[in-house]
Parts: sequence; structure tokens; C-alpha cells
Amino acid sequence: MADCVFCRIVAGQIPSTWVYEDELTLAFMDIGQVNPGHVLVALKPHAENLYQLDDAQAAAVQRTAARVARAIRDAFQPLGLSVYQANGKAAGQTVFHYHVHLVPRHEGDGMALSWPVKNPPRDELEKHAAKIRERLPRA
Ligand code: 5GP
Ligand code: ZN
Repeated sequence: MADCVFCRIVAGQIPSTWVYEDELTLAFMDIGQVNPGHVLVALKPHAENLYQLDDAQAAAVQRTAARVARAIRDAFQPLGLSVYQANGKAAGQTVFHYHVHLVPRHEGDGMALSWPVKNPPRDELEKHAAKIRERLPRA
């Protein structure tokens, strides 16, 4: 979809801080960092939300999420990792292209994720991404 921000990221038309990719998925740093190391895993083909995924797409996103989660764990050693997705406006979705959030959690975070989040400069995102990328296989 021409006006979809994540389709444009997948197509390389909007720069993003790349972490990992395979045939069906792309992982990149969220510009809004809830905590340092916050990554988005997006399906490459446009699908609005979870309901639209076929079995192969659902499996591919979960596999990438697991791989990137392990890399985040090893890179940042957080106490935990929140994995979530918003499906539909009422659930807080703002970008209507299917994606999963991977958010490292630290002591004192509490259970609720705090918003609004920090938008660090691109070189800071790149530093986080490099730490994660070096712990992942190359596609
Ligand atoms: P949602 O609100 O749909 O669950 O998640 C959308 C996420 O996409 C937000 O956390 C937001 O920070 C992130 N986002 C929106 N636009 C861009 C962008 O152009 N680049 C990157 N890297 N992330 C984006
Ligand atoms: Zn899209």
C-alpha cells in the first residue's frame, strides 16, 4: 500500500534502523523507545492485523520474534521482555500494518508500559541495533 509507513520501510523508501530480515519479515528499531532496545517485527507483505495472517505468515513472525528476543536478551540483559501487538484502533493500534513489539523491561518499570515514549536520535538507535544485529544470523 503506497501510503502505508511500514510498507514504505519494507520497500526502503523510508529509512529505518534495520536489525534482521528474512523472506517474510523485517525487524527494525522502533523510533519510539519505551526502553533502549525496543524492536518492531513486521510482516513484509501488507496485512492490517493478526486476523489477516495465513499460517505461514503467523509462524514466520513468531520465529523472527523469538530470534530477535534472544538477541535483545543477550545484548541488553533486561530482567524481562514484553512482547505485544495492538490489533485494531480500540486496542491502541496506530500503524495499520501488522507488527509485534519487543520491549526490554528493567527493574522499576512496573507492569504498565509508559507513554509517550522517547524518540532518540538515529545514531543512538543505530548503536542499539548494532548490538542486536551482531547476535543474529544474516539472512
Ligand atoms: P502501534 O501503535 O501500531 O502498536 O505501533 C506503531 C509503532 O510504530 C509505534 O511504536 C511507533 O513509534 C512506530 N513507528 C511509527 N512510525 C515509524 C517510523 O517511521 N519508523 C519507525 N522505526 N517506527 C515507527
Ligand atoms: Zn503496509
